[in-house]
Amino acid sequence: MVESTSPRWLVLDGYEDEPAAFGVPPYVGFHIRYLCGVLEQAKIEYDYVTIDQWRDFIRVEGEDAASARLSNVSGVACIAGAVVPGRYLRGTPISLKETRNIIRQLPAQVPAIFGGWAIRGWRQQGWNPLRSNLFLAVQDTDATLSNFLKSGQWKHCRRTAEEWTLWAQSGASSKAVTQHPDLGDEEKRGPLTYEVEVYQGCVRYKRGCKFCIEPKKGIPIWRTPEDVIEEVRLAHESGVEHVRLGGMTDTYTYMADGVQELEYPIPNPEPIAQLLHGLREDERLGILHTDNGNPSIIAEHLEPSEEITKTLVETLSDGAVLSFGLESADPNVHQANWLNCDAKQLKSAISLINKHGRGRGARGLPNLLPGLNFIAGLNGESSASYDLNLNLLHEIRNEGLLLRRINIRQVEGEGFQDISQKDFNSFKSSVRDNIDGPLLQELFPLGEKLCDVHWETHDGRTRLAAHQTEAHTSKDCHGKAGISFGRQIGAYPILIGVEYHIPLETQSDIIVTGHGARSITGVEINLNHTSVSQKQLEAIPGIGEKTAWKLVSQRAKNIRKNSQSGAYQNPQQWFDATNVDWNDDFAVFFE
Ligand code: SF4
Repeated sequence: MVESTSPRWLVLDGYEDEPAAFGVPPYVGFHIRYLCGVLEQAKIEYDYVTIDQWRDFIRVEGEDAASARLSNVSGVACIAGAVVPGRYLRGTPISLKETRNIIRQLPAQVPAIFGGWAIRGWRQQGWNPLRSNLFLAVQDTDATLSNFLKSGQWKHCRRTAEEWTLWAQSGASSKAVTQHPDLGDEEKRGPLTYEVEVYQGCVRYKRGCKFCIEPKKGIPIWRTPEDVIEEVRLAHESGVEHVRLGGMTDTYTYMADGVQELEYPIPNPEPIAQLLHGLREDERLGILHTDNGNPSIIAEHLEPSEEITKTLVETLSDGAVLSFGLESADPNVHQANWLNCDAKQLKSAISLINKHGRGRGARGLPNLLPGLNFIAGLNGESSASYDLNLNLLHEIRNEGLLLRRINIRQVEGEGFQDISQKDFNSFKSSVRDNIDGPLLQELFPLGEKLCDVHWETHDGRTRLAAHQTEAHTSKDCHGKAGISFGRQIGAYPILIGVEYHIPLETQSDIIVTGHGARSITGVEINLNHTSVSQKQLEAIPGIGEKTAWKLVSQRAKNIRKNSQSGAYQNPQQWFDATNVDWNDDFAVFFE
């Protein structure tokens, strides 16, 4: 973590995490970049620190050092994104306890601004810290900070369109990007994925889904393709490779026609094509993924939607997911909550995406598939709602249609109803066992090659500070005992486990060898028969522990005996010499 000697602002990235605003590493969120953009524009010195770097700092240097560090800042600006941080692989959003600690340690005169959804959520739950010069932003944190820097007054503010462009573009070259720990360098590229905000709001702003906050934002405001492309160009200049288009409640209604007049505005294929092709023209762009889709809009306007779908398949990287919010298949729930789409519209949209998107791309993944979101706890729900949900999922599967992911979320509290936990749990386990399991096997079949898996953790599904040390990143650990977990870059990647250590923060290709509940197992390809370890051999289906040991012992003996002539010419010769039956299926794993 960069430590300043003279006082500067501290920008603390507490990670936002919304369906349309990814910001947990390897993503860098847009709101934190806008904050840095404000400081860049005001020519104010600052340090960018992620909450994980802050935790490491406290772990290594102690709480006193953290207090000393905070007593030497000109101000603090923080985005806190998750009300209840869940389980994450690579980074964990700031918690309320951590936020409280930072505020407590900060000298009284130092100005501090905290924004993001977690701040609103914690306030609603009664959190009300009393401290002078502390501001909890409920509108645009960046605009509020900018106003403070100009006037010395705290006041809730909204950014103008001009400020949006200005701060987005300066944010693209800010320290939130250039000093992001996941950026990497020329020699070793990191997995950083740049979440770019394309628009705000939802076309259903007049009468949107009752549980959703998007309609409250009013008529959608779009950024032009040129504006977004220019921001991403600047991000590329700062070393960014991978991009996700975020902030889109519906990819298909970006700059749609009839937003003010029509219940189902008409998708406009031109601007989204201009945006996507414009981004692709820059050869520095690696993975490109997008945000949600609105199935009712797609179903009501199949022709322009088909054109957009083709553009998406042409320009996005494989593994792209369009999340569809059905929320419930029950017409009663649909009506009571002014939901967005019904089962018929959903099936029509899913068919269209499957028609064009189910083919596999360069990394071995289906090009573009829908994801499906359900919400439990909406008004009007009953036991029958779960049966309707399940029936619909079976219908979708019986028609041979693919879904990349099914997300089931339970909502509680004011405005929602209590649900039968028994019904909910039984729905969830039916989906996991009867729908998700077979889907996983179809999406990631045994023997399929998946490319560019980025290895992130060893022996557990959470990245630890130790994982960044030589013991876990150097090539010497390759093939040692343990488990490696990794993901391909992009939105909603599948978790891949391999039963030996692979140097972390490297990438390699694997062959799928097994399926878990929500993850898969694999073994790398291109293993070298002269150096492959016992654990690597054991991970290959059909080679057990004993056989792997025999092979490794035989190879060692052979090297001792024939130091001049060297090792076996090829793996098959090695297997034959060890009296182990060679199976042609083994060939795919070796160089
Ligand atoms: S379609 Fe419904 S859930 Fe989706 S953004 Fe609009 S109002 Fe919210």
